[in-house]
Amino acid sequence: MAENENQPFDRRGFLKTAAASTAAATVPTTAQSKDDDHDHDHQDVPSDQALRVKALETLLVEKGLVDRPALDALVDTFEHKIGPRNGARVVAKAWSDPAYKQRLLTDANKAIAEMGYTGQQGEHMVVVENSPTVHHMVVCTLCSCYPWPTLGLPPVWYKSASYRSRVVIDPRSVLKEFGVEIPDNVEVRVWDSTAEIRYLVLPERPAGTESMSEEALAAIVTRDSMIGTGKVLPPVQGATP
Ligand code: FE
Repeated sequence: MAENENQPFDRRGFLKTAAASTAAATVPTTAQSKDDDHDHDHQDVPSDQALRVKALETLLVEKGLVDRPALDALVDTFEHKIGPRNGARVVAKAWSDPAYKQRLLTDANKAIAEMGYTGQQGEHMVVVENSPTVHHMVVCTLCSCYPWPTLGLPPVWYKSASYRSRVVIDPRSVLKEFGVEIPDNVEVRVWDSTAEIRYLVLPERPAGTESMSEEALAAIVTRDSMIGTGKVLPPVQGATP
């Protein structure tokens, strides 16, 4: 498309603006920092990839090919409206209904779709079940493949080079940093997500939750437990739900 002669395209200025806005967009809030409290290297300067994405987005918006509010609405949907609560409901149902659990482990896509959770980045789901003898955890060593319809958008640490490389080399050390100790007699299996397959961990149901409703169970299932970097803990007595 021809550039406006009255407003010549200033590539240097554009990249400068894009870099500044990307930097602003990537500075974590206090809440995010707390949420992602995990010992790993953060990049102070936005990555080349982040800058390229921002530059591309800005160009597409400038040319009128995409609508920024529509993009924001899409991100907000996956970040706040979907989030990991859908996955938590899937886990709670599997814990409460053995027939559903069987369907989930046999054909995850079909079972998750039963609950209405379908869409982009969730087309080929596999659910792996934690047990007293096996602990599963998920990574995407190449980039950040993640099941959006069930878990929302991936946390910052999931996309970090440190997590992606270290999980496959020394998963137990990474788990320790998340506060998860896996006994030596429990096997740790690491699943590498791809553009084709997305994994969801079915965590172990904690003891003492036998009388809890499906809804109450969903409330104690955490995002990390469905990635395999956390375990589900029983609710604390007397705590406000
Ligand atoms: Fe990926």
